[in-house]
Amino acid sequence: MDQPHAFETLAIHAGQAPDQTTGAVVPPIHQTSTYQQDAVGRLRGGYDYSRAGNPTRTALEECLAALESGTCATSYASGLAAEDTAVRAVCAPGDHVVIPDDAYGGSLRLFRKVLAGWGLSYTPVPLRDLDAVRAAVRPETRLIWCETPTNPLLGVNDIAALAGIAHEAGALLAVDNTFASPYLQQPLTLGADLVMHSTTKYIGGHSDVIGGAVVVRDEELGEKIRFHQFAVGAIPGPFDAWLTLRGVKTLGVRMDRHCDNAERVAAMLAQHPRVTQVLYPGLPGHPGHEVAVKQMRRFGGMVSFRLAGGERGALDVCERTRLFTLAESLGGVESLIEHPARMTHASAAGTPLEVPADLVRISVGIENADDLIADLAQALS
Ligand code: PLP
Repeated sequence: MDQPHAFETLAIHAGQAPDQTTGAVVPPIHQTSTYQQDAVGRLRGGYDYSRAGNPTRTALEECLAALESGTCATSYASGLAAEDTAVRAVCAPGDHVVIPDDAYGGSLRLFRKVLAGWGLSYTPVPLRDLDAVRAAVRPETRLIWCETPTNPLLGVNDIAALAGIAHEAGALLAVDNTFASPYLQQPLTLGADLVMHSTTKYIGGHSDVIGGAVVVRDEELGEKIRFHQFAVGAIPGPFDAWLTLRGVKTLGVRMDRHCDNAERVAAMLAQHPRVTQVLYPGLPGHPGHEVAVKQMRRFGGMVSFRLAGGERGALDVCERTRLFTLAESLGGVESLIEHPARMTHASAAGTPLEVPADLVRISVGIENADDLIADLAQALS
């Protein structure tokens, strides 16, 4: 496809030209593990085995590369598989990584419980404090791992500033862009070296498929990561790649509605007498608001809030909503509610990365905003 095109156009067309054999407008699900060769080593379409490559997966990867303004995207069976592959592709045992003190619990668990055993050392740092980041960098630091906005505290980290610190130290900056999606924020254009997604969330957008992706701009780095994808093999199946690609076509329109609804929900919560704090980067009082204005198109569909009444108060609200479904995950068309300390971030309990017990996280869906506000109001009453 000829460049350049706007985001919404790329989401529908990048990597998705009509099928050359049949004219099918939608890329087919190439549910095959292997491909006939015309002679030994003479491949018809460049494919020999589906761990190495599959046309449905290629369509998804080309689309994601275009949406993140990258040159190479690799997709995976989950967001965590993407993270693990990315870190192992760029680091070696003995290297050091600066990690956030506030991020998705599963990412922190990956560093603490898996990659540390492989020989990677790490320092958790509040990434908003750039002096603390500089102080944590060591000669063997290979990577700064950033998430923004963060899960579940909605912290905002300055991607361009962190890229500057990483590059000065001869390290790379990786950004988990799951909460923003490429529609709201493009880390590679701000200086990041790797972008990572749980495509399970906004990119897939319908809570019906687990997946992950890594996108880079540097072609040599892309080759390295693609080799790891092939050698390790944590790939999505063709149907999962197809579902994700179907979801991504509507990413822009969905994100705008997620943002509209979240802005209204955050404003309502900020006025509520039982709510002690609303964590939403779109609120002018949020400590990361200015950085968010600088690096994001809008502020996303995730809102967290703290409640009077401690853990019991938070659990009660999670169990009393009717439209917001009590469930882990986020980024789908339907609204979800959860208690991070007992659910998504339970693995951080007892560590410095523990999240407050009075915190509730909501993924604001694309239903009618008045209905969502009424549901939260009755749960808080
Ligand atoms: N990154 C973030 C910010 C997440 O919220 C999640 C999952 O919730 C992941 C990564 C991991 O993704 P997956 O569950 O697809 O492995």
